[in-house]
Amino acid sequence: MPIQVLPSEVVSKIAAGEVIERPASVVKELIENSLDAGATEIAVETQGGGVELIKVSDNGTGIPQSELELAFCRYATSKIGSLDDLEKISSLGFRGEALPSIAAVAEVEIFTQTSSESAGSNMRLTQGKVVRRESCARPKGTTVTVRRLFRYFPARLKFLKSANTENSHIANLVSQYALAFPEVKFNLALDKRSSLHTAGDGDLRTVVSTIYGSELAQKMLDVDRKEGLMKISGLASLPSLVRSNRNSLSFFVNRRWVHSPLLTRATEEAYHGLLMNGQHPIVVMNVSLSAQELDVNIHPAKAQIKFCHEQSVFSGVQKAIEEALAGTPIASSKPVLFSASSTQWQRPRLVMDNEPVFAVSQLPSLELPILRVVGQIANTYIIAEGPDGLYLIDQHAAHERILYDRILAQWEQKQVEVQGLLHPVTMELSPKEEETVIANKVSLAEFGFTIDHFGNRSYLIRAVPAVAAGANVIEIVSALLDNLAAGDSLIPPQDKVAQSVACHGAVKAGQQLSNEEMRELIKQLEQTKQPRSCPHGRPTMIHLSAHQLEKEFGRLA
Ligand code: ADP
Ligand code: MG
Repeated sequence: MPIQVLPSEVVSKIAAGEVIERPASVVKELIENSLDAGATEIAVETQGGGVELIKVSDNGTGIPQSELELAFCRYATSKIGSLDDLEKISSLGFRGEALPSIAAVAEVEIFTQTSSESAGSNMRLTQGKVVRRESCARPKGTTVTVRRLFRYFPARLKFLKSANTENSHIANLVSQYALAFPEVKFNLALDKRSSLHTAGDGDLRTVVSTIYGSELAQKMLDVDRKEGLMKISGLASLPSLVRSNRNSLSFFVNRRWVHSPLLTRATEEAYHGLLMNGQHPIVVMNVSLSAQELDVNIHPAKAQIKFCHEQSVFSGVQKAIEEALAGTPIASSKPVLFSASSTQWQRPRLVMDNEPVFAVSQLPSLELPILRVVGQIANTYIIAEGPDGLYLIDQHAAHERILYDRILAQWEQKQVEVQGLLHPVTMELSPKEEETVIANKVSLAEFGFTIDHFGNRSYLIRAVPAVAAGANVIEIVSALLDNLAAGDSLIPPQDKVAQSVACHGAVKAGQQLSNEEMRELIKQLEQTKQPRSCPHGRPTMIHLSAHQLEKEFGRLA
């Protein structure tokens, strides 16, 4: 084919594909428009994971009748007018791409009314073209309804996850905007179910309490630091309050929700030495900077930004969090990981199990020779001797492997051992976590989790798998939900559940074990199918062969 300029419909579909990846992208663009229009109340409603319907209503400025059609033209915007403006963007939108992109991939209807006009407008678009336009009356503001998303894009539709998964993305997205704009009342209903309702009282802690629960909100420290024109504010969790992944780090720059490796690293630097490997804090933080200090125009969905002075942002954020942590008793006695007050010491001892996990006849070919326990070092590694040299075994990884195999075997036989809780544990789920519970109801029940709805987003945890009986219930359930919601990975849910349960049920590094416990641990490890790696694929042991030892000591000629 000769080189040719693509027809405009093709161009607009290509562009739409960049901006609108999934239903949550539509919700994001519409919420940003409402916020830019100065709305103080924003209601979001979706059906069928947003594919059937997304409706966003606001009480913002509205769009004048004469500009309504223009709003759906590509690169039409009221937010910037010149190249200079691009250098100092103060609105969330500026590319003039969202409405035309949405209209290119879905059916759109808009109702809007300004305060200065006597009538409002109602307009419908199909495949990007206006098919109806009337005047109408409504209170000041705008409602955009998006139906049948990606109907003419079977490839895109195919890549979408289940409605529940899409719901959890939407729930997370609305939660993030609610955290960035505490003065705005957000209302989210998923399939007619109320998922989030924020007060709009301007207090970040109130929003955190609504999303993550009041107990957690009470344990957050204020972050507040000013450095020249840079202002860093928000809430950061006490080191005793942790999550197993980075999903609870919310960063905003000039109130724009961003994915920023730089801010993540600066935050982790501040918590360095206070958290164990694999533990992450909960942080909600806004960095406000003069608009010239950043470039927001580096990503079609505006999810990434570039700072002009990265180093000063990095150190400012690190200091801001360090200052917040400085006042806490735990932070003042760095490092705390192995101090007597650390919570891990309150964990139950390794659960002894007199019954062999697998009947002898089921034993897989033993990959591991019989080992003799010599001792423990750093309360973390077991030293053992085998016929062919020395073994250093990571007690946590090894126990994880044992528990993982055990719970999966129980699950396969539909005989998961369950531990009922004497006192059910109440847990406030975030809107996203709630969607994950709903989406994974069956898997969770099969593994012995009884999680009952208890009004709003409160849930009662009544039972957990016996393998995790000793673990902190809230920690394990929140890690598990994070894990289930994480990415679009190919790991089947039962493996994710088994991994989380094993990880939290397993003895931790730093815990002293008796000789008997170590012997039992190794005996059980010998009986697993893959004793040499943990469920995450990391090694459980290092082997130094007799030959290697002789070589290292120069005993070989
Ligand atoms: P951008 O937000 O980048 O300007 P959009 O395509 O999202 O581009 O919107 C185009 C224009 O339509 C906006 O610049 C704004 O003037 C107007 N608009 C869109 N949504 C709203 C809304 N909810 N309230 C008021 N005006 C809106
Ligand atoms: Mg916009």
